[in-house]
Amino acid sequence: MSQGILFIISAPSGTGKSSLIQGLLKSKTTLYNIQVSISHTTRIIRPGELHGKHYYFISKKEFQIMIKQESFLEYAKVFSNYYGTSRQYIEDMLVSGTDVFLDIDWQGAQQIRYKMPESKSIFLLPPSKDILYKRLRERGQDSDIVIAKRMEKAVDEMEHYSEYDYIVINDNFKQAVNDLKTIINAEHLCLLQQRNKYNTLISNLLKR
Ligand code: 5GP
Repeated sequence: MSQGILFIISAPSGTGKSSLIQGLLKSKTTLYNIQVSISHTTRIIRPGELHGKHYYFISKKEFQIMIKQESFLEYAKVFSNYYGTSRQYIEDMLVSGTDVFLDIDWQGAQQIRYKMPESKSIFLLPPSKDILYKRLRERGQDSDIVIAKRMEKAVDEMEHYSEYDYIVINDNFKQAVNDLKTIINAEHLCLLQQRNKYNTLISNLLKR
């Protein structure tokens, strides 16, 4: 069985990344097994969020212990909170042939690219700054000060767009989900994946 592919997806908050990933998972025409990694974070739980579904919400002390135990494949400080990806979960999923989506920031993406150069990264951009601002306001989860801080951070995040393999613009939801599916399908058709998957067939075809 061939290994799953690790996809990194980054975007400034308010770009609609979580909805898009959910849209992708719900999409009936998705051909491959996909799981979204659930990160650990030290940030405060927001209304509507669930421990174990959106994040594993842990204390700073617990996070430090996990760093010491080398439990994270990557971790980073984002908006003064820590976020990290569990190493064991990712490795188990990939070995079982399942694709994994990591919803992480550019700092985490850099660490994963270094450790797992075969991973593929996607940067999601909003169609305009105005729409990004509107989406952040509509979430109704953050204060004006936090929104202003997030807008500023959005530019910091977007400055890293060129480090990614793919760019998707989240203007039209359906189109963006389709773009993600196209990327997944194309990556499964690349030489490395196909050679692993059709190893026996290819050997037979090349026999003289
Ligand atoms: P939020 O607090 O709005 O859910 O997420 C804030 C930022 O943290 C987002 O850019 C998100 O992609 C990033 N993030 C979430 N989980 C992780 C993680 O495990 N590692 C890293 N490096 N960033 C993460």
